[in-house]
Amino acid sequence: MKAEGKAEVPVSTTESTYKAVIGEQILADALSDFNDGRSWDKLFLIIDENVEKLHGDHVYSVLASHASEIHTQIIPAGEASKSTDLWKQCLDVLLENGARRNIPVVVVGGGVTGDLGGFVAATALRGMPLIHVPTTLLAMVDSSIGGKTGINHSAGKNLIGAFYQPGLVVADISFLETLPENEWINGLSEILKYAAIRDDSIFDDCSIFLEDEMKNADPEKLILLIRKCISIKADVVKQDEYESGLRAILNFGHTFAHALETECGYSRISHGQAVFLGMLAACKLSSLTGSDLKDQKLDPFRSLYTYAVDRNELAIKKLNRHMMADKKRTGPAIRFVLLESWQHPVLKEVEDEDLIREAWQVAFDEL
Ligand code: ADP
Ligand code: ZN
Repeated sequence: MKAEGKAEVPVSTTESTYKAVIGEQILADALSDFNDGRSWDKLFLIIDENVEKLHGDHVYSVLASHASEIHTQIIPAGEASKSTDLWKQCLDVLLENGARRNIPVVVVGGGVTGDLGGFVAATALRGMPLIHVPTTLLAMVDSSIGGKTGINHSAGKNLIGAFYQPGLVVADISFLETLPENEWINGLSEILKYAAIRDDSIFDDCSIFLEDEMKNADPEKLILLIRKCISIKADVVKQDEYESGLRAILNFGHTFAHALETECGYSRISHGQAVFLGMLAACKLSSLTGSDLKDQKLDPFRSLYTYAVDRNELAIKKLNRHMMADKKRTGPAIRFVLLESWQHPVLKEVEDEDLIREAWQVAFDEL
């Protein structure tokens, strides 16, 4: 049965306010609302290849009821698609098919397609309306909100990009029915991050993932949970649209996580697994630097995580070197987002390698 619940979150930016709508089978209605019931003469669609295989019929039929012409670019799954080559291919589809500044680019997929498609919309004709339709839990609660778009360069990830806000975000949970388990885990880690830095009630809400397989989570409750997460991200982004300060708290667990991802290779550890371990380490480091974190609120979720990496493969020295390579670093210390107490994140510079070593140990104990 389709979830009746539907939620809306306004996302304010300096330029405009847009809506994020969350619900089940809501794409058609959301598009109608966005265009006041009128249709477009054409729409551009940038869609992840797996999503196209699994949900393409549905997406095409919804778009076809809103526009007489649809021009599509399919994006191969995987980080390698955040490339100048695919960016150019997408631009070709737009510019060779009569793109105008009032024709939306509808981007359907996870973070990879979202980042690329967002950058295409940002750069074509100096900006075309962007409609994000995130299809992974991670993209729904995180990457589709906040206006970061971009592609990779051989010198590093996300080095080419722009802040560009969508006109609409449609988080339709019916896409999640086909999402593989490891992708649910990726989303869960970011959700637990919001619980840790902002809203304790999210820890309780996440019990929906403990009762059965994650994909069987109660849809009504899932919609409310996604809404809470989007609201938090929207609030943080509103206060710090261009990432000059507060937005850093969204990196809770991520300093450790990025070191793990770099060291293990992105294919051996997923972002979500690395972030979960990173949050455990960050909690430990918080305690070691004087915070009072009573009970480890992440504990109940540990059983959902399994790892292909063995602790014997990891050397703390190397991991720390990755953290030291952080470009934002100014002195010898490493900058972390830690917790003063639950839901009270602080930025702390930590120099003492012994403390960092002890924090890593907590993550290694999971492996
Ligand atoms: P993320 O949102 O985690 O950054 P990606 O864009 O890398 O994710 O997508 C992760 C993987 O999930 C890709 O292989 C993509 O094709 C696939 N995917 C995305 N959405 C769905 C979905 N709704 N059902 C099944 N697979 C999906
Ligand atoms: Zn993350």
